Order: sequence, then structure tokens, then C-alpha cells
Amino acid sequence: MPIATTNPATGAVLKTYEAMSDEQVDAAIERADLAYRQLRGTTVGQRGAWLVAAADLLEAERDEIARIMTTEMGKTYASAKAEVTKCATACRFYAAKAPEFLADSPADAAAVKATRAFVRYEPIGPVLAVMPWNFPLWQVMRFAAPALMAGNTGLLKHASNVPQTALLMEDLFRRAGFPEGAFTTLLVGSEAVEKILGDPRVRAATLTGSEGAGRSIGQIAGRELKKTVLELGGSDPFVVMPSADVDRAAEVATTARCQNNGQSCIAAKRFIVHTDVFDAFAERFAANMAALRVGDPMDEGTDVGPLASERGRDEIDAQVRDAVDKGATVLCGGAKPDGEGWYYPPTVVTDLTPDMRMWTEEVFGPVAGLYRVSSYDEAIEVANGTAFGLGSNAWTRDPDEQERFATDLDAGNVFINGMTTSYPELPFGGVKNSGYGRELSAVGMREFCNTKTVWVGEGAASAGAGAHAE
Ligand code: NAP
Repeated sequence: MPIATTNPATGAVLKTYEAMSDEQVDAAIERADLAYRQLRGTTVGQRGAWLVAAADLLEAERDEIARIMTTEMGKTYASAKAEVTKCATACRFYAAKAPEFLADSPADAAAVKATRAFVRYEPIGPVLAVMPWNFPLWQVMRFAAPALMAGNTGLLKHASNVPQTALLMEDLFRRAGFPEGAFTTLLVGSEAVEKILGDPRVRAATLTGSEGAGRSIGQIAGRELKKTVLELGGSDPFVVMPSADVDRAAEVATTARCQNNGQSCIAAKRFIVHTDVFDAFAERFAANMAALRVGDPMDEGTDVGPLASERGRDEIDAQVRDAVDKGATVLCGGAKPDGEGWYYPPTVVTDLTPDMRMWTEEVFGPVAGLYRVSSYDEAIEVANGTAFGLGSNAWTRDPDEQERFATDLDAGNVFINGMTTSYPELPFGGVKNSGYGRELSAVGMREFCNTKTVWVGEGAASAGAGAHAE
């Protein structure tokens, strides 16, 4: 895959880049290793000041950064600006909370026959981040902010279609004050990942991307005995039960499916609706989807821009064609338009059966699968009936049902009467083929920490819990 900026709204190649040589990559890893030794000696307060400076830069330069993101991968300009703001918020969150998240945690000394015992969270070194293009700033930031605060350094291998966004991240952290090498963008293709992860100076890896990339990186990391966090695909269920506010559910369903032009891992993709409210929901949902304005992502009035790549558009079109050929019904959309740009209309497909690709595969575009079920148990069976387990949504005003959904949905998160969203305050990740490990919150920060047990016996000196993180 060439490393290039290609505008999805026109198909025009705007800028191409040479991949870095092995020597350049080696020098970058060396700088990351040296920077790690420097960074781990800084205080959490110092690192927090640099991260707040990064937030200030993001806010000051929001519009220009957003324009680059929209040009590289086609998200609407309005959503790109919101993404920049969300990244600044995450920087401020980790700057404020890291002292608490990294503070020594006291243990029951008497129970372990110590005079003092505690857990200390220490950085582990350079971490490789292999990232996708769909939220080109946010995916990187939710790794980078906690990693840098913990004292690790970052090596970013971003998706090959967002090189300008990748380069601006390195520039951002340097200008914010982080030492040279603390955060480095490696302009390389995916074939370079094996060697980088095999380098002894690289201590761990995080990947956000497809199942295939997850299996590949998981295998390499297993061989190298390196820690990984894998955030992979999803086919999130959105269940609507008879007691739900159907109008509201149909409104939120539209956003949940079409946000980011339908290219979100946590987009609701399968709409599983109880037969008592199926017709009412289907009518409203299809009408809402058909009313979305598809067009130039730079236009403030646009709801849905182009898909990020021609290949991505061909893939969802093939999934819809497969369903239709096998007997599915299209309620709206469903046809690839002519003309320039990789646009696809918001689409609702129903009468799906297990032999169709849409039943089992992730659909990465503005295409919703609509399923009719006749009981709670059937809703759970369909909802859990894929290999994925990232997010999940259930709409019900019945408190008992809310409790049951919270337990029975087999996913990394359950949002009741709302759509899945990521917050710096809450852990984020999946189960089954959606990956493992967590990002965000204290849990995400500690994924790349050495959770070190310290046990102090009789006659020891006085260092102890609380002395480390200022
Ligand atoms: P992708 O092909 O897996 O690409 C993601 C990143 O992995 C890119 O940097 C890519 O590099 C690299 N890559 C691809 N194959 C690789 C391999 N075999 N070894 C090492 N690196 C490899 O993913 P995508 O299709 O562009 O992105 C969409 C997928 O990401 C969807 O499945 C979506 O659900 C998932 N996603 C998950 C989350 C989450 O938090 N769980 C969030 C967003 C997206 P190149 O660009 O150079 O190929």
C-alpha cells in the first residue's frame, strides 16, 4: 500500500511519501530508547505540563488539523473538529489524573508478613502503536496520552493513507516540550512491523485495526514474548425492546450507524428489534437514514461523507449485493452511486439469514442490518451470535431487563438507552475476536506499566507507599 494522501471526495492523490529505510527506523528506535531513559527520570508533574501544552496546541490549531484529517480520510469537517477537541480533553484528563493512577498502591503488610508492602506502576520502554485511519487523531491520542504520562515512549506506525496526520502527531508532542524521541512517527508499510516488534528495544505493541492485523501482530508478539493490546473489529448489536422509546431509539440508531461515515469499530451495525415494535422502528429508522445528507465532507451541512477508500466502498457494496442475491430486502439506499468520490448512501437491509455475509461479517460503512426477534432470549442469541464482542446497545425502560442485558450481552461494553461512545474516564476494549486488553481510564494506562510489587521486611529503610508519584 503506498504511503500517500488521497482525497476520498475526489480520488485525487495529493501527496506521496517514501517509506523510511531500515537505517532510519533503527535510528528512530534508538532515539525512542534514549528518550525513554530520560522520560522515566522526569516527574509526573513535568510530563503533565507537556501534555497540557499539547492540549493547548490542539485547541489553537483545531481547524487546520481537522482540515487535514478530512482531506486524508473523508470524515466530515464538523466531526474532525470534534475529534481534535476530544483529544485535547483526553490530554487534560491524563495530565490531571496520572498522579492518582500512578501513585503507589498500599497492600496489607501484615497479611504478607512485611513491615510495608505496596504496588508501584513503572514505565516499560518504547511501545509500538499500529493505528488505523478511521479516527486518525483520537486512536493515536488514546494510546499516546497515557503512555507518555506513564513515562513510556511511543513509536507510531499509522495507516498508510493518513501520513500527514501521522507526522503532525510527532510534531505536536515535540512542540509541546516532550524530549526528542519521546514520540516518533515511522513512515513505513505494514510489512515493516515484524522487524520493529522483534527489536529488543521495543518492549510492547498496541494495535487498533482489523482482525487480520490483530492475528499477525499477536503471533509476532507471542514469539517475541511481548505484551500487546489489541483493539479489533466489531459488529455491535443495538437491541430495541417493546418498552423502549422507539422514536428516540430510531434517532440514536441513525447516528450510531452513520457516525464517521459508518466507519467506526463501535458503530451499531446490527439492529435487533422486538416484533412488537419492529414495524414502527423500521419505518422511522429507514426514513431517518434516507434523510441524511450525503456529500462533500468539508460542507458544514453534510451528514455523511465518502468512504475512506475505493476498496472499502467496494467491500460494503459486495456485502449488500450478497445479501440481496440471497433474498434480503433493502429498505433504503443499497446502490453505489456514479460520479467521483467514494460515496455510498445510508442503507437499511432486512430479512437477513445466517448464510449471508452481513450476518457474520463486520460492515464498515453506512449500512445497517435489521433483525426481527420475538423474545428477550432470541434477542440475546442474535446479539451474541457473532465472533465479535466490542460494544453493545440495548433499549428498554424495564429495570429488570436493563440488569439482564448488562450481564447477558457478551461485549466489552453495554450502553443502555444510548449509543456506545468512548470516554477517557471509562475502560474501552473488547472480548472474543474484537481483541483483548483495555485502553483509557486507569486500566488503559496500566496496560503498559510494570506493576511492581515491593515488599519491605524488618529493619528496612523508610521509603514506602505514597513516596513515588508526586
Ligand atoms: P487494518 O487494515 O488492520 O489497518 C490498521 C493498521 O494496521 C494500519 O496501520 C495498517 O497498515 C496495519 N496493518 C494492516 N495489516 C497488518 C499486518 N498484517 N501486520 C501489521 N500491521 C498491519 O484496518 P483497517 O481495515 O484499515 O481499519 C478498520 C478496522 O479497524 C475495522 O475492523 C475496525 O473495526 C477496526 N477498528 C477497531 C477499533 C477498536 O478500538 N477496537 C477502532 C477503530 C477501528 P497499512 O495502512 O500500512 O496497511
